[in-house]
Amino acid sequence: MLLASGCLPPTAGTARVRSRRAIKQTYTVPRVSIEVGPEAMSFRSPHFLLQFEDEIVTVRDFETLDGRESRGRGALLYFESQYEFLTQVLGVEPLGPIRVVVAPRVRVGSEGRASEHDAYAQTHFQRLNGGVAVSTTLYFGIQAFSSPGVRAHEMFHAFAGPYGLPPWLDEGLAVLVEAELIGGAGWAKTNKDLTPIGQDPEGYNLIQTWRQAGSSLPFRDIATYSYAYSIVSALREQNGDQFFPDFFRLLRQEIARRGLHSYTDEEIVALMSAAAGRDLLPFFRDVLRFRLDAERVRAYLEELRGQAHQEVAPRIPMSGLRP
Ligand SMILES: [Zn+2]
Repeated sequence: MLLASGCLPPTAGTARVRSRRAIKQTYTVPRVSIEVGPEAMSFRSPHFLLQFEDEIVTVRDFETLDGRESRGRGALLYFESQYEFLTQVLGVEPLGPIRVVVAPRVRVGSEGRASEHDAYAQTHFQRLNGGVAVSTTLYFGIQAFSSPGVRAHEMFHAFAGPYGLPPWLDEGLAVLVEAELIGGAGWAKTNKDLTPIGQDPEGYNLIQTWRQAGSSLPFRDIATYSYAYSIVSALREQNGDQFFPDFFRLLRQEIARRGLHSYTDEEIVALMSAAAGRDLLPFFRDVLRFRLDAERVRAYLEELRGQAHQEVAPRIPMSGLRP
C-alpha cells in the first residue's frame, strides 16, 4: 500500500521573516559516520539512506565523484541535524527507515510535467509477521534538493507519513518546521489568522475537508498552507513548547495499542486535549468552527485516560533498505 503525501505550496520559501517566538534551536551539526557507496552514488548515515539516480551525473556540480561526494555528505549532515530537531524539539520520531532519492527532475502525482523544483514523500506499508512495517521515500528534484526550506518541509512528511494525520495538521506542522527550523516560510508567518478559511452551508470550517473528495479547497494553494500553519502555531503558543512532543508521544502509544490508521478530527482533538492537560474542544469548535461530535471527543478522551503507558510502535532496522 502506498500513501503519497507531502507536497509543497507553489511559492514556498520565497520570503524570510524572523519569528520572535521561534522554537529554541537546540540542534547542532552532528558528528555522524557516513558510509559512501560506489561512485559516490549512494550514502548511508545512522538514520538515512541517500541515493542519486543515474541521470544525476548530467547535472552541474554532480558530474564528478568529488562533487557528488561533498554534496551527498553535506545533505546527510543536514538531515541528521534535522533528525535531532524533529525528535527532540517537536517529538516526532520516524516509525521506519527513510530513503532519500535525488533525480534531476521528479513528477508529483500522475499529472503535470516532471520538475526540478518538486519534491514529495511516499510512505510504504507492508504486512510483516502479523504487524505492519513502514518505510518512507523522499523524492527530490535537483533544485528542491538544494533548498533548505523544501528539505525541512519534506523531511517532516517523511517522519510523520505513517502517523495518519489529517492534511490540515500534517501540512501545518510541515510549514511550522520550515518556519522554525530554518527561519523560512515568511509567507505563512505574516498571514497568521484563525478565521475559518471558508465555511460550508452549515457554517463549519472548510479546512477540515482539505484534500478530501469534493473539497472546494485547492490541493496546493499558498493560503491553505498558511492557514494550516496558523492553527498549529496557535496551538503551540497557547499550550507551550512541550505540547507537540506530548501529542506525538501519545500518538505513538495509540499506534502501539491500535495499529496504524488515519485519525479523525475527533480523535485528534481528544489526543491534543490529553497532551495539553485541558479541554481543547472549545478552541476547535468555537474559535476554528470545526465540525465535531463532542460525545466522540469525550468518549475517546476517557479511553485515553484509561490507558497505561506503553512502548512505542516497533521499528524495522535500517538494513531493511537496500540501495
Ligand atoms: Zn507538505
